[in-house]
Amino acid sequence: MFLNRALLGPILLSLCFVASAQDVRVPRITSVFTPPPKAKPSDDSANLGPFTTGPKPAEVDDATKAKLEGLAKQYGEVARANFGLIIKTLQVKPAKKSKPVRIVVTYGYGGVAATSGAGFGSDPKTPVIEVSAKYALAHPDDLGMIVHEMVHVVQSYPKYDPVWLVEGIADYVRWFYYEPADKRPHPNPAKVTARDSYRTTGAFLFWASNKYDVNLVPKLNAALTTNTYQESMFKDSTGKTLDELNLEWLDSLKAQTH
Ligand SMILES: [Zn+2]
Repeated sequence: MFLNRALLGPILLSLCFVASAQDVRVPRITSVFTPPPKAKPSDDSANLGPFTTGPKPAEVDDATKAKLEGLAKQYGEVARANFGLIIKTLQVKPAKKSKPVRIVVTYGYGGVAATSGAGFGSDPKTPVIEVSAKYALAHPDDLGMIVHEMVHVVQSYPKYDPVWLVEGIADYVRWFYYEPADKRPHPNPAKVTARDSYRTTGAFLFWASNKYDVNLVPKLNAALTTNTYQESMFKDSTGKTLDELNLEWLDSLKAQTH
């Protein structure tokens, strides 16, 4: 009957939590393994002797197929589970109705993983994350790459430029908010600069955020989204130019290694 005042706080808090969790609408994410097309009997180079060209289509046995389907399922789960983390880290307001995302594990893609159709000036079609089946089998524990690719889906910038910063932001989220702390990159100050892209830039952004402005990356992300990014944003945000920050960051890395 009576609501204890001591209980009211936690109840209101949990109501707020539920409300904000509902604000993040995870897009519909499907993830599949697409097996290579079956070789036609006439394609069977074994019967044609040495006078054939081109690679034979990959053959996938049932055990491999099951493994790849299992990995595809896991990728979908990681993508869904971390969408909120990406939105929160970049301080993005997700669209009321986001486009569905497709994750495809395929032998048709030769790299590690790539996102297409997520923006970067392309037609606004369904974002597709392609993962190399060969890579997936060789690195079954690499789920962080899906977080990196999902950041690209959220970014959907009008331009893929500057590449080092776009990739650096994706790895900033991956390595400093998704992966465990003991896996974080430790760039070698003798060999790197802040503009080296990927995890090196990610480490630089993490350092600059902690030292000067916790909202640095959300600000950069917002500017890249509206195509208004300029390098002077670093100075506006931290009081130092990108080059000054780079030198200071490298000095701090050197100090850590001594
Ligand atoms: Zn990337």
